[in-house]
Amino acid sequence: MKKIKKFIHRKTLIYKTEVEYGDYTMNHVLGCCHGCLYPCYAYLLKKRFGEVKSYEDWCEPAIVENALELLDAELPKFKNKIQMLHLCFTTDPFMYEYDEVRDMSIAAIKKINASGVKCSVLTKGVLPIELAQMSKDNEYGITLISTDEAFREQIEPGAAPWKERLSALKALHDAGCKTWVSIEPYPTPNIIKQDLIQLLEKVNFVDRIIFGRMNYNKVVTAYSDHKHFFNTCATEVIAYCDKLGIDYHIKNGTITPQCDTK
Ligand code: SF4
Repeated sequence: MKKIKKFIHRKTLIYKTEVEYGDYTMNHVLGCCHGCLYPCYAYLLKKRFGEVKSYEDWCEPAIVENALELLDAELPKFKNKIQMLHLCFTTDPFMYEYDEVRDMSIAAIKKINASGVKCSVLTKGVLPIELAQMSKDNEYGITLISTDEAFREQIEPGAAPWKERLSALKALHDAGCKTWVSIEPYPTPNIIKQDLIQLLEKVNFVDRIIFGRMNYNKVVTAYSDHKHFFNTCATEVIAYCDKLGIDYHIKNGTITPQCDTK
């Protein structure tokens, strides 16, 4: 297990967002030990605004020490407006091997549910089985873009091994929880050659699949056929989900018109 070495204090926590998973979000940690190299949009944002100095600084998470107090103060104000509170937008609520982050996330979800608000959760860590004791309206998700562990180590160096991630999600599904998978950012074949159907077969017990292309990456755009490739992948996801009765969402910008393939 790893210990948190940095602590910060914030004035506010809950805010409105445009993400598909929830209309409001909260980030009770600054930084993320997973250190994804897609690159991570949250890291680029925090670096641009001077909240973290470097990649190394980003990978050493700082916990918001007053996050639970902020929730107590803000939930009464927000609870009637929120459809779904998403954990998290710019960090990971179940950061791999950080018990302090996990414990704070569980405490936060308990408070949020106690105020009558449901949560969506997305992680590249390990979802704890204690979540099965919380509101069955919550939705628990993992990101999974590959079942190649060597590729996972290369592109998500600090995240949980994919099998650990997936078995924790399956355990929550088996315990009657709503589960989902985010297959995003899905890489092009010049980054890794893989079979999308095999990946879908690994996750086909979930209630919902979100699929999105890899963006912000020169290697992707160097793959001349990338638009056609993502269109084909999206078609495969839709057909697969339709066949099995799985809910799905294709992220904006993943499908582009066929005439716009140059
Ligand atoms: S898990 Fe999410 S927040 Fe953490 S480094 Fe990866 S992309 Fe960024």
